[in-house]
Amino acid sequence: MPVSVAIVGSGPAAFYTAAALMDSGDDVCIDIIERLPTPYGLIRDGVAPDHQTTKNIANKFEKTAMREQVCYFGNVGVGRDVQLIELREIYDAVVLAIGSPEDRVLDIPGADKTGVIGAATFVRWYNGHPDFRDLAPDLNISTAVVVGVGNVAMDVSRLLCLSAEELAATDLPDFAEKAILQSPIHDVYMIGRRGPTDAKFTNVELRELGDMAECVPQVRPEQLPGSVEGDYPDRDKRLRERNLETLLQYSQAAIEGKPKRIHIEFLAAPVEILGGDRVEGIRMERTRVEAGRAITTGDFFDIPCGLVIPAIGYRGTPIAGAPFDDDRNIISNEDGRVEDGLYVAGWIKRGPFGVISSNRPDGVAVAGHIHDDFEGGHKARNPGREALREMLKERNIRSVSFDDWKKIDAAEIANAGGTRPRKKFVTIEAMLGVLDNS
Ligand SMILES: Cc1cc2nc3c(=O)[nH]c(=O)nc-3n(C[C@H](O)[C@H](O)[C@H](O)COP(=O)(O)OP(=O)(O)OC[C@H]3O[C@@H](n4cnc5c(N)ncnc54)[C@H](O)[C@@H]3O)c2cc1C
Repeated sequence: MPVSVAIVGSGPAAFYTAAALMDSGDDVCIDIIERLPTPYGLIRDGVAPDHQTTKNIANKFEKTAMREQVCYFGNVGVGRDVQLIELREIYDAVVLAIGSPEDRVLDIPGADKTGVIGAATFVRWYNGHPDFRDLAPDLNISTAVVVGVGNVAMDVSRLLCLSAEELAATDLPDFAEKAILQSPIHDVYMIGRRGPTDAKFTNVELRELGDMAECVPQVRPEQLPGSVEGDYPDRDKRLRERNLETLLQYSQAAIEGKPKRIHIEFLAAPVEILGGDRVEGIRMERTRVEAGRAITTGDFFDIPCGLVIPAIGYRGTPIAGAPFDDDRNIISNEDGRVEDGLYVAGWIKRGPFGVISSNRPDGVAVAGHIHDDFEGGHKARNPGREALREMLKERNIRSVSFDDWKKIDAAEIANAGGTRPRKKFVTIEAMLGVLDNS
């Protein structure tokens, strides 16, 4: 009898885990259970719409999904349609790969004003996630402030400043494209607490800002140190040096008559969101860096703006039936093992850090635990898939198979037209409607 494994979530961590389980050579039967009809987690709903080549990793995950040991149950939410405790009764092993969906909160006065929108929310809006399609952010503004200097802050700043032609090569939903195109926005400030050599963005993302059709990056030369100070491993130091070089080039570039600017501003901490019910500005306090920490200086300045997007990190949320570490916002675990029969992988295991491939070792670790705990399959005993099918049928839950997803995928691609890679369906009803009509 195969070891029955339910993997909850269908982002990178889920697919790397499924692949590692099959690579282990054990007899396994794997069900991937996803709350949305569509698979791939942040590859669909996080990775920037103008980074289509990054999204191509989905082709590899598709091959995993189509292996005979694997079955996809889309449109089935754990905690909504079935409970974790129920899955644990019918499967030998359950792996939680549910990601870290929420924003870390910007905890300053005024952060509840209209016009403060966390990056996790904003990114899912412009990526057409069904839960956020009605967000309708007011982009009828001239200036936005993005708090944070990581890759997500970069993505958000860049997206706000893309030209019509650049937008036309993305899979941005119509409502987001229209809002961005009609926006009179011309200045975006991206602000970091610490110095230029502490910024978390990668050099590839930073260099992209220099190639935008209608936007130039702006950096103040007086904020740039002459060299990277500090005791870093070689590779880390080289990355910081590369960023410093690129920032230096930006600080020397003339404004080439492009209408939009992304200002990268360092050494400033947000203190208060200004305005009435709506955002009218943000008050910042200058910092200096001592021993790697940002120290406030008592020197304040305001940036008038109509939108503030905190991009200061993501946060995992608890799921009933699994122990949660409130300090780290992850499910408590030891290298992926929560307890016998329950495992975690990806951001909900480690916290919201790293690129797509950073989740691969998590899958390998979980496959190793499952191999050990079930003695290579000798201790398998639960029915898994058939029992889940029965449960969904009894509850009248309409699950979406991988073949169903391929029909939705084909319809999105067929609807694209022009230079677009796809036109996403942005409601569950529209996705299921494709299946009704096929
Ligand atoms: C804005 C943004 C841009 C990024 N861009 C890049 C990039 O360009 N390149 C790169 O390499 N990395 C990028 N990353 C990082 C990369 O996306 C992550 O490393 C990776 O997606 C984390 O994988 P995961 O499987 O842990 O979580 P996720 O990708 O978040 O997947 C979790 C899945 O679980 C599902 N789920 C959640 N709860 C339940 C439930 N209760 N029941 C059923 N299903 C559930 C979710 O719907 C989702 O599909 C980006 C991240 C963000 C936030």
